[in-house]
Amino acid sequence: MKNVTSAVCTECGARYAADPLTTVCPACGGILDIEYDYDYIRSSLNRETLKSRRDYSMWRYREFLPVEGTSRVPKLRVGWSPFYKADRLAEVLGIKTLYIKDDGINPTASLKDRASAMAVVKAEEAGKNIIACSSTGNAASSLAGNAAAAGMKTYIFVPERAPKGKVAQLMMFGATVISVQGSYEDTFRLSAEAIDRWGWYNRNAAINPYLMEGKKTVALEIAEQLDFKMTDYVAISVGDGCTISGVWKGFKDLYAAGFIDRLPRLISVQAEGCCPINTAAKENTAKWRPQEENTLADSIAVGVPRNPVKALKAIRESDGIPVNVSDGEILEAMRLLGHTSGVFAEPAGAAGTAGLKKALETGLIERDASCVSVVTGNGLKDVNNAIKASGEPILIPPSMQLLLKEFRKIGDSHQ
Ligand SMILES: *Cc1c(COP(=O)(O)O)cnc(C)c1O
Ligand SMILES: [Zn+2]
Repeated sequence: MKNVTSAVCTECGARYAADPLTTVCPACGGILDIEYDYDYIRSSLNRETLKSRRDYSMWRYREFLPVEGTSRVPKLRVGWSPFYKADRLAEVLGIKTLYIKDDGINPTASLKDRASAMAVVKAEEAGKNIIACSSTGNAASSLAGNAAAAGMKTYIFVPERAPKGKVAQLMMFGATVISVQGSYEDTFRLSAEAIDRWGWYNRNAAINPYLMEGKKTVALEIAEQLDFKMTDYVAISVGDGCTISGVWKGFKDLYAAGFIDRLPRLISVQAEGCCPINTAAKENTAKWRPQEENTLADSIAVGVPRNPVKALKAIRESDGIPVNVSDGEILEAMRLLGHTSGVFAEPAGAAGTAGLKKALETGLIERDASCVSVVTGNGLKDVNNAIKASGEPILIPPSMQLLLKEFRKIGDSHQ
């Protein structure tokens, strides 16, 4: 990889050659960070050559990605998700300029596809054709889908309580799904033992640094879709902390390579009932503490985050704003995204928007600002909570008289 210089340990600073199987620091077990040769990137890509590219997927940014030149690009089209100027939502929230980046429009309907597509490429580079992970949600379904498209086999470990919709995705993509009668912790431990025993490629959680490099492509797209004129803020929901770290890495890479001339401030949004990263950020300390997982936004219900170091660094470096939102505020944001913009988000997907709303209401950010709100997952994944947010339809027998009566009840003037 001509564009990559090394993998650096975020804990002890040791440097290694970036190879696909070294996913944590061999010396101290710390999380690694991939470093690039920005002079090389500058000499091989600029805004104009990028604009003329026909590849509308995350792989249009190959110069910024840690993949071998000879690696084949996956078949499933991940990335280049829709980017909307959201004037009606901006008006409701009371902000001058607002954009929605809808990453629920990805092959398996979440931003996690960007990480899983990368995992599939790195597994192939490592000569593996079986990938495994344990997860209850989007990491698993995106891995199963992306691996299926690449002709790879997946073993997915889920706790028995995993939501049906997400299990259906796994089965549909042909994964071998092991439903463990126990807690998520039990599930994780069994998967680790199995991965160790059979030598499968490990897509577990946020420790694999290549996954974050995949996730950063959402930031590269946002910048290009803004014609490289960055907004003041980018709002995003945070669980393990891998997504926000990836977003920040993407913007920093573009800045270092001369594609953008300023960096946005990140609005880091967590649920009130589970916010270990924001709590540490607010206390200005790297010492986060585990919390309970009391939120309906299952994708960000992470009491023990696996990537707190990078996430806290991203918040600190970007002069970021930690905002916690209640489940009620998340449901309200889901409704607002749907009603004003036709965008259907799962709870964790709408949390960024909920955080932006709160940051405006509490004066944390100015009303004449510009912001991108990233929707990280699609609402169809979690129909129960969607109905909770939107309410039930009008239910009547087939009678015009009863229809008129219902219309009067809800103040609809048709008669
Ligand atoms: C995973 C996920 C997040 C949070 O990403 P982390 O890397 O865990 O911080 C947010 N929204 C959705 C829909 C997700 O699936
Ligand atoms: Zn180390």
